[in-house]
Amino acid sequence: MAIKHAVTNGNFSNESTWNGDNLISTPMRKKCDKGYNDGSGNCCCNCKYQKKAMCHPKNGNIGKGSINKQMGWICMTEFEDRSNKDEYMFFDFEHGFCELYMSR
Ligand SMILES: [Zn+2]
Repeated sequence: MAIKHAVTNGNFSNESTWNGDNLISTPMRKKCDKGYNDGSGNCCCNCKYQKKAMCHPKNGNIGKGSINKQMGWICMTEFEDRSNKDEYMFFDFEHGFCELYMSR
């Protein structure tokens, strides 16, 4: 029998599962109340499809800078019918939500 265990400390939640022999920890997942707030803490910023968009020195006006400098975020979600295959959305904001949310 698996026993689920969750410890919430401020904005962070640390979940672990006892499988009878070992305690299996899952990575800490940051909860957020800055996006679409349904009380779950789910937000683009803790969705596995959100990635960082980084600058490059050879860019023109948009995204010009060090490769260590972040210019925004990318959403790499894929629609069920794959109609957006190889198309990723750029965002200049970090927090939001959509129906394709997937926890990290
Ligand atoms: Zn957020």
